[in-house]
Amino acid sequence: MRTLPAHSRATLLLLLAACFLPLSAEARPQSDSIFGPLPVFEFHSGFWINLHHMLYQEAKALRNPSEHPTPGKFAHSVLDIASEPHPALTASEQRTWQDAVNFYAANYADHDLLFSTDLVILKNQLGDFEDCDELSGTKKKTCDAGLPPNITHVLESAGAIYRTHYWSAHDRANRQWIALISPLIREQGVGISERLAAAYQTKWPKPKIRVDVSAYANWAGAYTTLDPLRVTISSLDPRNQDTAALEVLFHEASHGIAEPVEQAIARECRQRDKAIPRDLWHALVSYTTGELIHSAMTNGGSLAPDDDAVPGGGATPYAVREGLYARGWDDYLNLLSRFWQPYLDGHASFDDAIARMVSSL
Ligand SMILES: [Zn+2]
Repeated sequence: MRTLPAHSRATLLLLLAACFLPLSAEARPQSDSIFGPLPVFEFHSGFWINLHHMLYQEAKALRNPSEHPTPGKFAHSVLDIASEPHPALTASEQRTWQDAVNFYAANYADHDLLFSTDLVILKNQLGDFEDCDELSGTKKKTCDAGLPPNITHVLESAGAIYRTHYWSAHDRANRQWIALISPLIREQGVGISERLAAAYQTKWPKPKIRVDVSAYANWAGAYTTLDPLRVTISSLDPRNQDTAALEVLFHEASHGIAEPVEQAIARECRQRDKAIPRDLWHALVSYTTGELIHSAMTNGGSLAPDDDAVPGGGATPYAVREGLYARGWDDYLNLLSRFWQPYLDGHASFDDAIARMVSSL
């Protein structure tokens, strides 16, 4: 649930421009007509991205079999992919799949999906080529994703097995997740996005934000990469279900738009000769998203026609506060309730709220 630092963003942009733009322009992005059209977000359930994240998770589990992928209170609920029984693979399928996992373990498992430029570029490229059933362009020229031959080979080989044994279940879970959240996005997406942007003193981006829904995402259950702004979210992660789905989605998107807040906090700290507090900005985004979603939900939103049908359906108050406590952000929560909440309620100006928070640090 973090974003790429600015310096990596610039590098990434350059690399993308240099390596991939001519190719991605030829690729046909999956339209969101299957799911929408919806305002604000454009949802995708892409084959290659799903395969990529599954291989990455298995490789991680292979490297650190005893290590829980997520610290804190959610550790128990994270998908324990290593212990998931594999459907009956033939001996040769098993070998091919294991080779792919080994390749990911050797090349990617020690790198973070969010902070590794290589992994971000790979993820985006796999998203752009989701409509292709190959990545090498052997059968169809426009399906040459321009990836290094070894990863192309690994993904195409493992892809055949993934398609036979896993994809339909994962795709179904993704589509179900999208179907559940769609009515809320349709009804409240524009309103929530406008209020969030106003709170951050900015404008919500005009183009729809691409959301790659994947059976597996990263240790946090969702992450966001910039330039281009894209959210990857796990459809199976227990933390992303029911009302939390909407909150996670807008929290992630906020990573791409709340820069004015980050800058204002930094400016205020410099003026007062204080160290810029790590994570205050992130805590603020979590808090703000939670508050605005909560208020939107109490004003009539629900995830299902009948609230009783969904455990925790309707408004789940302050789910984000639980998140804040879990991260050890109690002090920030106190600051935010005292100085940021009055701003959200219209009783203080943005500058005052930031100044008071920083002076109380
Ligand atoms: Zn976050």
